[in-house]
Amino acid sequence: MANALTFTCLTESATASKLYPRRGALQLLKKKQPIQTPVCLTYTIRGAVPHLVVDNLAGLPTDMYHLSLEHFLEEREPSSLKYPHGIHKYVHLENEVIFCDMRDPQNNNFVTFNTDKHLSVDTHGGVRQVTPELWAKVLETYRPDLYSAMADIICDKDAKTKRIKRSVDRTLRWLDECLPKAKSSGTPIFAPVMGHTSAEERQRSSTETMERDVEGYSVSVLGLNQDDFAPLLQASLEPLPSDKPKLAYGLTSPEHILLGVSKGIDLFDGSYAYKMTERGRAITLKFGEKLEKSDNKQDKTVNLWNTKLAQTFEPLDTSCGCYSCSTPHTKAYIHHLLNAHEMLGTILLMGHNVFQLGQFMESIRHSIEKGSFSQDMDTFMEQYNHEKELDGEQGHVDEVDADSLGVAVKKKRTLVL
Ligand SMILES: [Zn+2]
Repeated sequence: MANALTFTCLTESATASKLYPRRGALQLLKKKQPIQTPVCLTYTIRGAVPHLVVDNLAGLPTDMYHLSLEHFLEEREPSSLKYPHGIHKYVHLENEVIFCDMRDPQNNNFVTFNTDKHLSVDTHGGVRQVTPELWAKVLETYRPDLYSAMADIICDKDAKTKRIKRSVDRTLRWLDECLPKAKSSGTPIFAPVMGHTSAEERQRSSTETMERDVEGYSVSVLGLNQDDFAPLLQASLEPLPSDKPKLAYGLTSPEHILLGVSKGIDLFDGSYAYKMTERGRAITLKFGEKLEKSDNKQDKTVNLWNTKLAQTFEPLDTSCGCYSCSTPHTKAYIHHLLNAHEMLGTILLMGHNVFQLGQFMESIRHSIEKGSFSQDMDTFMEQYNHEKELDGEQGHVDEVDADSLGVAVKKKRTLVL
């Protein structure tokens, strides 16, 4: 049987280091064209790209979708597990590539505890226990294109070494249980590399995982201190072979994506587009050749809640080719839609943000091909403000709508003077 997944690294390292920015091509059997890396996986909630329907996805750079099983376990007996035609048809992404993993990459909530027999997932419907048997059933029923083995994720920042060791051992054991089923179904499997806050355990986890016959690896910095995770990430990545793709969780901001690319990571979680949309922000950053230098530091996003935009009759980004900007819808109108809590406001923003994140990744790939990634990354860091983008809605006065039926609804009103 031909390999369901082939990864080709297109860039040679200029130094002895195994960790360098690299271009790659992921070829899946079902796709004629390979997926070019580095690339972001499109973030979904319950199998849907938030705010968008399938028709909105046409023209957006959505090469691969991340699907979190925890979103489907809210019901005790999920209907998706009884649907006989697979997850692609269930979520109406029939011709798309779906990567299935357990956790929502932007949800690192503390869950009760995991044991050797199951891991716990905190869903809106309560805590669910996932066993290797259930995980095998998901593989069999969903038939995703790519699939991650179960991981004993630690949510406690202060976890002791004994707990971290147990997490590494347990994840390896679960991987060994998953592997025969994945091989017999022909589904490429990504192995989670664990180790949490211990560099030694991260190295051990990578070293022992690479002895297994897997198609790729996932590393995570979720739940770690944002300022000092780089050495831990390095400890996970160094032992891993360079001929297989690597996915990173927890590297979602543009700065973190660039850091990950510089360390040779190929696949990223694309939830940044969603997070910005939820904050009423439009991504406007540029990278490489497209970045026009300025004497002043620029913001990476525009806050559409800003009342000053109420009279700004221009698109979110005049150089953007997305539906929102090319139609064009103006900043003033989207500001108005947000204030009126119209769904169209977030639909237009989300489409634009997914498009822009795709453009950012394309610029990164182009920069690597040109051999200028390192200079382009320095320029990016010089040119932009790097403070965390806050919720643009902050500062608006909340009012409770007493007339609403049943539940009190918060209304945000902005005076335009
Ligand atoms: Zn746009």
